[in-house]
Parts: sequence; C-alpha cells; structure tokens
Amino acid sequence: MKVKIPGFEQPVRPGKIICVAKNYRLHAEEMNEEVPEEPALFLKPPTALIPNRGVVELPPQSAEVHHEIELVVVIGKKGKWIDETEAMNYVAGYAVGLDMTARDIQRQAKAKGMPWAIAKGFDTFAPLGDIISPEEVPDPHNLPIRLTVNKEDRQLGHTSEMIFPISYLIAFASGIWTLEPGDLIYTGTPSGVGPVYHNDVLVGYIGHLPILEVTVELPK
Ligand code: MG
Repeated sequence: MKVKIPGFEQPVRPGKIICVAKNYRLHAEEMNEEVPEEPALFLKPPTALIPNRGVVELPPQSAEVHHEIELVVVIGKKGKWIDETEAMNYVAGYAVGLDMTARDIQRQAKAKGMPWAIAKGFDTFAPLGDIISPEEVPDPHNLPIRLTVNKEDRQLGHTSEMIFPISYLIAFASGIWTLEPGDLIYTGTPSGVGPVYHNDVLVGYIGHLPILEVTVELPK
C-alpha cells in the first residue's frame, strides 16, 4: 500500500513500520509487565498495511486478535542518529493507526522467549488512516484517544500519557535504522485492549485527525 503524505507529489510505499511496545503505563500494567527503561521496539512488514475503510482479516492461526489504537508518526526525510532536538523536523504527518495483535500467539512467543514477528505481522494487521500535516497538529502530545468497537467505547486515553515522547522515539529508532520518507512509527497504545470478532466495526479517533474505520472479517 502506498500512502499520501502532505507535501509529497507522489504517494510513498512505507519501507518500515516501527512499533513501540508498552509506551503507556496503564497498558503495561494491564499486560502485567514492567514499564521499560528504553523504548521496546518491533517491526511490522509493509504488507500489513490497510487503508481507512479497509478490512482486517482474522488469520486462521489465531483465536484471539486484539485491537491497539495508536498515534502514528510519518517520517518525511532520511536520517540516521537524529538528535532529539532536531527530531520533530523529520515528521511529515500524523495518522490514526491500529496495531492489530494475535495475543495468543504473542503470549506463546513471550513464554518461549521468541520474537513477536508472527503475532504482530499478519497481512492487514496495520490499519492506517489518512495522514495530516504536522502544521495541523501543533501539539501531538495533547490529543485524546478513543477506540470504539460496534459503537461501544473500548480504549480511552491521551497522547500526553506516552512514556517516551515522539522526539525521543525518533532519535532512538534512528540510532538503529536509517529512517526514510514514508517510514511509520506506531507510538504505542493506551489501556483497554481486547479481542475483535467477525463483522466487528472498529472506529479510532485521535484528536482532530481523520477518523480510522475498519471492519473485521474471517478470511473468505
Ligand atoms: Mg501496540
């Protein structure tokens, strides 16, 4: 999937989807885990992306797929070892995202000390809403977060509750991977994660960002 980034003439195919685990204290607590001392990062493949009004397909390998609503930061220029004081200059936009997670597979992986790639990386597991420019989001750490499933509130939070702020995440991640235009950072989810089922409708709201709506379906 290619994404339209404000200020870019051509749509871009994101190369990396960087995700932050446990970036909200109440979510770490609901997972019975400690708040990390450094950002806990993992990657999803670009094939996981679906757009607004897309369909999340429930993979047959999992019986417990969870929603995690997250503010997504879109990278606009190439950088390595970006200084935290410069980091926000690398942001080309923001969007509402969902970090879909096969929780049963993740639980087994954690128990065995195995990576999360399978639990997090299935096709359609990275819904991404339309992107708006950073000028339209002067304070990305002052946005209420809400996810409804079939019009019922499931996740309520606020981006002010992030443990590691966006500038720190960009600086930290860029010390590992060269960041490139179109790369996405899913900045972590507040508490209230839970399972989704066939025909569920998920709607994500983060401040005044474009709403993200997806449906959940068993594979045809
Ligand atoms: Mg997440």
